[in-house]
Amino acid sequence: QPSLLEVKNLETAFEIDGEWHNAVDNVSFSVKPKQVMGVVGESGCGKSVMSLSIMQLLPKNIGKIRNGQILYDGKSLEKLTDKEMNKVRGKDVAMIFQEPMTSLNPVFTIGFQLTEAIHNHFKVSKKEARKKVIDLLNKVGISRPEKVVDEYPHQLSGGMRQRVMIAMAIACEPRVLIADEPTTALDVTVQAQILELLQDLQETNDMSIILITHDLGVVAETCHEVIVMYAGEVVEQTDVISLFEKPLHPYTELLMKSIPRMDREEKNLASIDGIVPSLKNMPRQGCKFVDRCPKAMEECRTVTPGLGEEIPGHSVRCLLYESSRTQNEVTAK
Ligand code: SF4
Ligand code: MG
Repeated sequence: QPSLLEVKNLETAFEIDGEWHNAVDNVSFSVKPKQVMGVVGESGCGKSVMSLSIMQLLPKNIGKIRNGQILYDGKSLEKLTDKEMNKVRGKDVAMIFQEPMTSLNPVFTIGFQLTEAIHNHFKVSKKEARKKVIDLLNKVGISRPEKVVDEYPHQLSGGMRQRVMIAMAIACEPRVLIADEPTTALDVTVQAQILELLQDLQETNDMSIILITHDLGVVAETCHEVIVMYAGEVVEQTDVISLFEKPLHPYTELLMKSIPRMDREEKNLASIDGIVPSLKNMPRQGCKFVDRCPKAMEECRTVTPGLGEEIPGHSVRCLLYESSRTQNEVTAK
Protein backbone atom coordinates (compact mmCIF):
# COMPACT_ATOMS: atom_id res chain seq x y z
CA GLN A 1 0.00 0.00 0.00
CA PRO A 2 1.48 3.38 -0.98
CA SER A 3 1.98 5.90 1.78
CA LEU A 4 -0.20 8.97 2.15
CA LEU A 5 2.30 11.11 3.99
CA GLU A 6 6.01 10.62 3.80
CA VAL A 7 8.67 12.46 5.75
CA LYS A 8 12.08 11.94 4.17
CA ASN A 9 15.35 12.90 5.87
CA LEU A 10 13.75 15.91 7.51
CA GLU A 11 16.09 18.42 9.10
CA THR A 12 14.51 21.39 10.81
CA ALA A 13 16.80 23.97 12.36
CA PHE A 14 16.40 26.88 14.75
CA GLU A 15 18.60 29.90 15.04
CA ILE A 16 20.02 30.57 18.48
CA ASP A 17 22.56 33.37 18.98
CA GLY A 18 23.36 33.48 15.29
CA GLU A 19 23.89 29.74 14.90
CA TRP A 20 21.56 27.17 13.37
CA HIS A 21 20.90 23.97 15.31
CA ASN A 22 18.90 20.96 14.16
CA ALA A 23 15.84 20.41 16.35
CA VAL A 24 14.77 17.61 14.02
CA ASP A 25 17.69 15.69 12.61
CA ASN A 26 17.32 13.44 9.60
CA VAL A 27 13.93 11.99 10.51
CA SER A 28 12.16 9.69 8.04
CA PHE A 29 8.89 7.83 8.30
CA SER A 30 5.78 7.20 6.29
CA VAL A 31 2.13 7.00 7.15
CA LYS A 32 -0.18 4.76 5.18
CA PRO A 33 -3.89 5.41 4.67
CA LYS A 34 -5.91 4.69 7.83
CA GLN A 35 -2.78 4.10 9.86
CA VAL A 36 -2.14 5.55 13.31
CA MET A 37 1.48 6.49 13.70
CA GLY A 38 2.82 7.26 17.15
CA VAL A 39 5.67 9.69 17.78
CA VAL A 40 6.92 9.34 21.32
CA GLY A 41 9.55 11.06 23.44
CA GLU A 42 9.88 13.60 26.24
CA SER A 43 9.35 17.27 25.64
CA GLY A 44 12.29 18.85 23.89
CA CYS A 45 12.86 15.81 21.67
CA GLY A 46 11.65 17.55 18.51
CA LYS A 47 8.18 16.04 18.24
CA SER A 48 6.29 19.32 18.04
CA VAL A 49 8.87 20.90 15.75
CA MET A 50 8.37 17.95 13.46
CA SER A 51 4.61 18.44 13.33
CA LEU A 52 4.97 22.18 12.78
CA SER A 53 7.37 21.36 9.93
CA ILE A 54 4.81 19.08 8.31
CA MET A 55 2.14 21.79 8.62
CA GLN A 56 4.61 24.45 7.40
CA LEU A 57 3.87 26.44 10.53
CA LEU A 58 7.41 27.01 11.78
CA PRO A 59 8.00 30.46 13.26
CA LYS A 60 9.32 32.54 10.35
CA ASN A 61 12.96 33.71 10.45
CA ILE A 62 14.01 31.62 13.44
CA GLY A 63 12.97 28.18 12.25
CA LYS A 64 13.45 26.51 8.87
CA ILE A 65 13.46 23.20 7.09
CA ARG A 66 16.99 22.91 5.84
CA ASN A 67 16.87 19.53 4.30
CA GLY A 68 14.54 16.73 3.35
CA GLN A 69 11.05 16.39 2.00
CA ILE A 70 7.50 16.15 3.24
CA LEU A 71 5.40 14.37 0.65
CA TYR A 72 1.63 14.37 0.87
CA ASP A 73 0.02 12.28 -1.82
CA GLY A 74 3.22 12.66 -3.81
CA LYS A 75 3.33 16.48 -3.47
CA SER A 76 6.28 18.18 -1.70
CA LEU A 77 4.67 20.36 0.96
CA GLU A 78 7.88 22.23 1.77
CA LYS A 79 7.93 23.57 -1.79
CA LEU A 80 4.40 25.00 -1.74
CA THR A 81 3.69 28.71 -1.49
CA ASP A 82 1.76 30.00 1.54
CA LYS A 83 -1.35 30.21 -0.59
CA GLU A 84 -1.02 26.65 -1.85
CA MET A 85 -0.28 25.39 1.65
CA ASN A 86 -3.43 27.09 2.98
CA LYS A 87 -5.42 24.82 0.72
CA VAL A 88 -3.70 21.74 2.13
CA ARG A 89 -4.04 22.76 5.77
CA GLY A 90 -7.31 21.63 7.27
CA LYS A 91 -8.48 19.90 4.13
CA ASP A 92 -5.72 17.37 3.50
CA VAL A 93 -3.67 17.57 6.68
CA ALA A 94 -5.07 19.06 9.89
CA MET A 95 -3.66 19.45 13.35
CA ILE A 96 -4.89 19.59 16.93
CA PHE A 97 -2.82 21.05 19.70
CA GLN A 98 -2.29 20.22 23.34
CA GLU A 99 -3.88 23.32 24.81
CA PRO A 100 -7.36 23.96 23.41
CA MET A 101 -7.61 27.23 25.32
CA THR A 102 -4.75 28.76 23.35
CA SER A 103 -6.13 27.75 19.96
CA LEU A 104 -9.77 28.61 20.59
CA ASN A 105 -10.57 32.30 20.49
CA PRO A 106 -12.20 33.30 23.80
CA VAL A 107 -14.30 36.10 22.30
CA PHE A 108 -16.16 34.06 19.69
CA THR A 109 -18.79 31.36 20.13
CA ILE A 110 -17.99 27.73 19.37
CA GLY A 111 -20.43 27.89 16.46
CA PHE A 112 -18.75 30.93 14.95
CA GLN A 113 -15.28 29.38 15.14
CA LEU A 114 -16.38 26.09 13.64
CA THR A 115 -18.22 27.93 10.87
CA GLU A 116 -14.99 29.77 10.06
CA ALA A 117 -13.15 26.48 9.80
CA ILE A 118 -15.76 25.16 7.38
CA HIS A 119 -15.80 28.36 5.31
CA ASN A 120 -12.05 28.17 4.82
CA HIS A 121 -12.62 25.34 2.39
CA PHE A 122 -16.31 25.12 1.53
CA LYS A 123 -18.85 27.58 0.23
CA VAL A 124 -22.01 26.87 2.21
CA SER A 125 -24.89 29.06 3.34
CA LYS A 126 -25.21 30.24 6.93
CA LYS A 127 -28.02 27.80 7.55
CA GLU A 128 -26.13 24.86 6.06
CA ALA A 129 -23.04 25.79 8.04
CA ARG A 130 -24.96 25.80 11.31
CA LYS A 131 -26.37 22.38 10.53
CA LYS A 132 -22.90 21.11 9.68
CA VAL A 133 -21.52 22.54 12.93
CA ILE A 134 -24.17 20.78 14.97
CA ASP A 135 -23.46 17.52 13.10
CA LEU A 136 -19.77 17.91 13.86
CA LEU A 137 -20.37 18.54 17.55
CA ASN A 138 -22.55 15.45 17.61
CA LYS A 139 -19.85 13.48 15.90
CA VAL A 140 -17.27 14.37 18.54
CA GLY A 141 -19.61 13.29 21.30
CA ILE A 142 -20.83 16.64 22.59
CA SER A 143 -24.26 16.31 24.09
CA ARG A 144 -26.79 19.07 23.45
CA PRO A 145 -24.85 20.57 20.53
CA GLU A 146 -27.71 23.02 19.80
CA LYS A 147 -26.84 24.71 23.07
CA VAL A 148 -23.04 24.41 22.88
CA VAL A 149 -22.97 26.01 19.43
CA ASP A 150 -23.87 29.37 20.99
CA GLU A 151 -21.52 29.08 23.98
CA TYR A 152 -18.05 30.51 24.50
CA PRO A 153 -14.91 28.41 25.14
CA HIS A 154 -14.71 29.32 28.86
CA GLN A 155 -18.18 27.88 29.41
CA LEU A 156 -16.92 24.40 28.50
CA SER A 157 -14.86 21.87 30.45
CA GLY A 158 -11.33 20.98 29.31
CA GLY A 159 -12.53 17.73 27.78
CA MET A 160 -15.36 19.48 25.91
CA ARG A 161 -12.94 22.09 24.58
CA GLN A 162 -10.66 19.36 23.30
CA ARG A 163 -13.67 17.77 21.58
CA VAL A 164 -14.42 21.13 19.95
CA MET A 165 -10.81 21.34 18.76
CA ILE A 166 -11.13 17.89 17.26
CA ALA A 167 -14.40 18.94 15.59
CA MET A 168 -12.60 21.93 14.13
CA ALA A 169 -9.74 19.80 12.87
CA ILE A 170 -12.03 17.28 11.16
CA ALA A 171 -14.45 19.92 9.82
CA CYS A 172 -13.06 19.59 6.32
CA GLU A 173 -12.50 15.85 6.54
CA PRO A 174 -8.71 15.78 6.34
CA ARG A 175 -7.03 12.56 5.37
CA VAL A 176 -4.24 13.03 7.88
CA LEU A 177 -4.74 14.37 11.39
CA ILE A 178 -1.75 15.38 13.48
CA ALA A 179 -2.64 15.28 17.16
CA ASP A 180 0.07 16.88 19.31
CA GLU A 181 -0.31 15.70 22.92
CA PRO A 182 -4.10 15.83 22.55
CA THR A 183 -4.78 14.47 26.02
CA THR A 184 -1.91 15.77 28.12
CA ALA A 185 -3.85 18.61 29.74
CA LEU A 186 -6.77 16.34 30.66
CA ASP A 187 -7.44 14.03 33.58
CA VAL A 188 -7.10 10.29 33.11
CA THR A 189 -10.77 9.45 32.52
CA VAL A 190 -11.27 12.24 29.98
CA GLN A 191 -7.96 11.28 28.38
CA ALA A 192 -9.25 7.78 27.70
CA GLN A 193 -12.48 9.16 26.23
CA ILE A 194 -10.64 11.49 23.88
CA LEU A 195 -8.36 8.69 22.68
CA GLU A 196 -11.37 6.52 22.05
CA LEU A 197 -12.99 9.34 20.10
CA LEU A 198 -9.88 9.74 17.95
CA GLN A 199 -9.88 6.03 17.21
CA ASP A 200 -13.57 6.07 16.28
CA LEU A 201 -13.06 9.04 13.99
CA GLN A 202 -10.05 7.42 12.40
CA GLU A 203 -12.26 4.50 11.40
CA THR A 204 -15.43 6.36 10.40
CA ASN A 205 -13.55 9.05 8.46
CA ASP A 206 -10.85 6.72 7.06
CA MET A 207 -8.21 9.09 8.39
CA SER A 208 -4.58 8.53 9.16
CA ILE A 209 -3.41 9.95 12.46
CA ILE A 210 0.02 11.04 13.64
CA LEU A 211 -0.27 10.91 17.39
CA ILE A 212 2.41 12.79 19.27
CA THR A 213 2.81 11.91 22.91
CA HIS A 214 5.29 11.50 25.75
CA ASP A 215 3.29 8.53 27.03
CA LEU A 216 4.02 5.08 25.63
CA GLY A 217 0.81 3.88 27.28
CA VAL A 218 -1.14 6.06 24.84
CA VAL A 219 0.84 4.53 21.96
CA ALA A 220 0.02 1.00 23.13
CA GLU A 221 -3.68 1.83 23.15
CA THR A 222 -3.99 3.55 19.81
CA CYS A 223 -1.09 3.23 17.39
CA HIS A 224 -0.04 0.79 14.69
CA GLU A 225 3.46 2.07 14.01
CA VAL A 226 5.73 4.07 16.24
CA ILE A 227 8.89 6.13 16.23
CA VAL A 228 10.71 6.96 19.44
CA MET A 229 12.52 10.28 19.28
CA TYR A 230 15.37 11.55 21.39
CA ALA A 231 17.16 14.88 20.97
CA GLY A 232 15.73 15.42 17.49
CA GLU A 233 16.58 11.95 16.17
CA VAL A 234 14.69 8.72 15.72
CA VAL A 235 16.23 6.21 18.15
CA GLU A 236 13.80 3.35 17.54
CA GLN A 237 11.23 2.65 14.85
CA THR A 238 8.90 -0.32 14.35
CA ASP A 239 5.32 -1.53 14.70
CA VAL A 240 3.69 -1.26 18.11
CA ILE A 241 3.55 -5.00 18.81
CA SER A 242 7.27 -5.47 18.14
CA LEU A 243 8.12 -2.45 20.25
CA PHE A 244 6.31 -3.75 23.30
CA GLU A 245 7.47 -7.32 22.79
CA LYS A 246 11.07 -6.34 22.49
CA PRO A 247 12.10 -2.74 23.07
CA LEU A 248 15.68 -2.38 21.87
CA HIS A 249 16.79 1.10 22.84
CA PRO A 250 17.66 1.87 26.48
CA TYR A 251 15.59 5.06 26.21
CA THR A 252 12.52 3.11 25.09
CA GLU A 253 13.00 0.74 28.02
CA LEU A 254 12.99 3.68 30.40
CA LEU A 255 9.92 5.19 28.76
CA MET A 256 8.17 1.86 29.27
CA LYS A 257 8.99 1.88 32.95
CA SER A 258 7.47 5.32 33.23
CA ILE A 259 4.07 4.43 31.75
CA PRO A 260 1.45 5.57 34.26
CA ARG A 261 -0.77 2.70 35.31
CA MET A 262 -4.06 2.60 37.13
CA ASP A 263 -2.85 -0.16 39.42
CA ARG A 264 0.28 1.67 40.41
CA GLU A 265 0.59 4.64 42.72
CA GLU A 266 1.63 7.77 40.83
CA LYS A 267 4.51 8.30 43.26
CA ASN A 268 6.09 4.99 42.26
CA LEU A 269 6.27 6.11 38.66
CA ALA A 270 9.79 5.69 37.38
CA SER A 271 11.19 8.89 36.01
CA ILE A 272 14.21 9.20 33.82
CA ASP A 273 17.04 11.07 35.49
CA GLY A 274 18.47 14.08 33.75
CA ILE A 275 17.11 16.14 30.87
CA VAL A 276 17.21 16.14 27.10
CA PRO A 277 20.27 18.16 26.01
CA SER A 278 19.33 21.61 24.76
CA LEU A 279 19.93 22.52 21.13
CA LYS A 280 22.92 24.63 22.10
CA ASN A 281 24.51 21.88 24.14
CA MET A 282 23.96 18.98 21.79
CA PRO A 283 26.99 16.67 21.74
CA ARG A 284 28.62 16.74 18.30
CA GLN A 285 29.81 13.17 18.45
CA GLY A 286 28.87 10.02 20.24
CA CYS A 287 25.40 9.06 21.44
CA LYS A 288 23.13 11.94 22.47
CA PHE A 289 21.62 9.82 25.23
CA VAL A 290 24.94 8.97 26.85
CA ASP A 291 24.59 11.14 29.96
CA ARG A 292 21.33 9.48 30.94
CA CYS A 293 21.83 5.95 29.68
CA PRO A 294 22.08 3.19 32.30
CA LYS A 295 23.88 0.99 29.75
CA ALA A 296 26.39 3.56 28.50
CA MET A 297 29.86 2.33 27.60
CA GLU A 298 33.11 4.25 27.25
CA GLU A 299 32.92 4.37 23.44
CA CYS A 300 29.41 5.87 23.51
CA ARG A 301 31.05 9.29 23.95
CA THR A 302 33.08 9.06 20.78
CA VAL A 303 31.33 6.69 18.37
CA THR A 304 28.09 8.05 16.88
CA PRO A 305 25.44 5.35 16.45
CA GLY A 306 23.47 5.21 13.19
CA LEU A 307 19.87 4.06 12.81
CA GLY A 308 20.22 0.41 11.82
CA GLU A 309 17.62 -2.22 11.01
CA GLU A 310 18.45 -4.75 13.72
CA ILE A 311 15.49 -7.05 13.07
CA PRO A 312 13.49 -6.82 9.81
CA GLY A 313 11.10 -3.88 10.30
CA HIS A 314 12.69 -2.85 13.60
CA SER A 315 15.39 -0.19 13.66
CA VAL A 316 17.47 1.14 16.52
CA ARG A 317 20.16 3.75 17.11
CA CYS A 318 22.41 2.35 19.82
CA LEU A 319 25.92 0.90 19.90
CA LEU A 320 24.70 -2.19 21.74
CA TYR A 321 23.47 -3.36 18.35
CA GLU A 322 25.58 -4.44 15.42
CA SER A 323 23.28 -2.90 12.78
CA SER A 324 23.60 0.47 14.44
CA ARG A 325 27.39 0.26 14.29
CA THR A 326 27.47 -0.78 10.63
CA GLN A 327 24.94 1.89 9.73
CA ASN A 328 27.25 4.38 11.37
CA GLU A 329 30.21 3.16 9.30
CA VAL A 330 28.13 3.40 6.14
CA THR A 331 27.13 7.00 6.93
CA ALA A 332 30.72 7.96 7.76
CA LYS A 333 32.05 6.84 4.35
FE1 SF4 B 1 23.30 3.95 25.75
FE2 SF4 B 1 25.56 3.78 24.38
FE3 SF4 B 1 23.29 2.84 23.35
FE4 SF4 B 1 23.69 5.46 23.61
S1 SF4 B 1 24.83 4.05 22.30
S2 SF4 B 1 21.85 4.36 24.10
S3 SF4 B 1 24.81 5.56 25.50
S4 SF4 B 1 24.35 2.08 25.17
MG1 MG C 1 5.69 19.26 22.30
